[in-house]
Amino acid sequence: MDFASIDELTAALAECRRCPRLVEWREQVARDKRASFADDDYWGRPVPGFGDPAANVVIVGLAPAAHGANRTGRMFTGDRSGQWLFRALHEAGFANKPASVGPTDGLALDAAWITAPVRCAPPANKPTTDERDSCAPWFETELDLLVNRSIYICLGQYGYHSLWRYLGSRGVELPRPRPKFGHGVEISLPNNVTVLLSFHPSQQNTFTGKLTREMFAAVFERARQFSGPCPPTPAP
Ligand code: SF4
Repeated sequence: MDFASIDELTAALAECRRCPRLVEWREQVARDKRASFADDDYWGRPVPGFGDPAANVVIVGLAPAAHGANRTGRMFTGDRSGQWLFRALHEAGFANKPASVGPTDGLALDAAWITAPVRCAPPANKPTTDERDSCAPWFETELDLLVNRSIYICLGQYGYHSLWRYLGSRGVELPRPRPKFGHGVEISLPNNVTVLLSFHPSQQNTFTGKLTREMFAAVFERARQFSGPCPPTPAP
């Protein structure tokens, strides 16, 4: 894939229909809707990355949620995982607001970009290996275009393993064996690249207390330390 900018990639991504099962599912969910969102116009297409194209911090999730990003068209927006993520980003100074509502809410990220290895909502949040591999060029080309990237936050094992494959494909010297996934793990790579690992803020983790607000916030505070100081607050 060859795109001159993230905007070009995003425009092409929106037209992708490479995975028949996921195309059918994302469109079926968008047609049938959840009762509580019956009045919403679902996006029902591949979800682009979101944030600051000059970001040095890249957050890697898994895939859009059926009634979250597949509804709103913005990564991690419209579901409980996103509530956790944007609050943590705001507290660490990466977002100008603590919540993401939808594309017209004025939310902006500074120095951070949110992406995922699979761009269409998969049934049961489980893409197949073929689907993951079909979507990898979108994910990997997008990462290539984020020229300042140096800190990665992987939300869950799926994002971690996808990122690892990407780094390997770009010739980064990686430790072997791959470090075991765990919350709070930090991996230092050549050229001042850092990978931070976090449990995914899914309800499975947050409702059970496996992931607490404090644990999650600590990962973003750590990213802030690597990323540099918060931008100055604009004058009133
Ligand atoms: S998952 Fe990726 S490759 Fe498959 S249809 Fe969606 S955007 Fe295209």
